[in-house]
Amino acid sequence: MALGRSLRRVLVMDSGLPCNRFTPHSHNFITHDGEAPAKIARKARKQVERYDTVHFHKGLAVEGKKRRQVLR
Ligand SMILES: Cc1cc2nc3c(=O)[nH]c(=O)nc-3n(C[C@H](O)[C@H](O)[C@H](O)COP(=O)(O)OP(=O)(O)OC[C@H]3O[C@@H](n4cnc5c(N)ncnc54)[C@H](O)[C@@H]3O)c2cc1C
Repeated sequence: MALGRSLRRVLVMDSGLPCNRFTPHSHNFITHDGEAPAKIARKARKQVERYDTVHFHKGLAVEGKKRRQVLR
């Protein structure tokens, strides 16, 4: 969200297996106490999707390459 708000083009790639997926309720996250982790994640995604600089892709990253950026 912070990068998207700073007008950076952002790709969020996620294979969708968060480590807390087996727990029914989240605690100690103020304002979300007792909520299901998946519900918090959906809400977070909805808020980030408001920024059209940010794109989502469901998938597993298997390698990364540094590309030379051409500044205009
Ligand atoms: C059982 C359990 C209960 C918990 N309960 C609480 C709680 O009550 N309160 C609390 O504050 N914290 C809790 N935690 C801790 C909390 O879940 C973690 O701190 C938090 O999920 C970490 O977020 P993260 O985004 O760093 O990692 P994750 O939530 O694990 O997300 C990582 C994501 O990256 C994806 N990924 C990994 N590798 C790749 C790849 N190569 N390409 C694409 N995607 C990839 C995964 O699929 C996953 O979706 C709990 C954790 C566990 C395990």
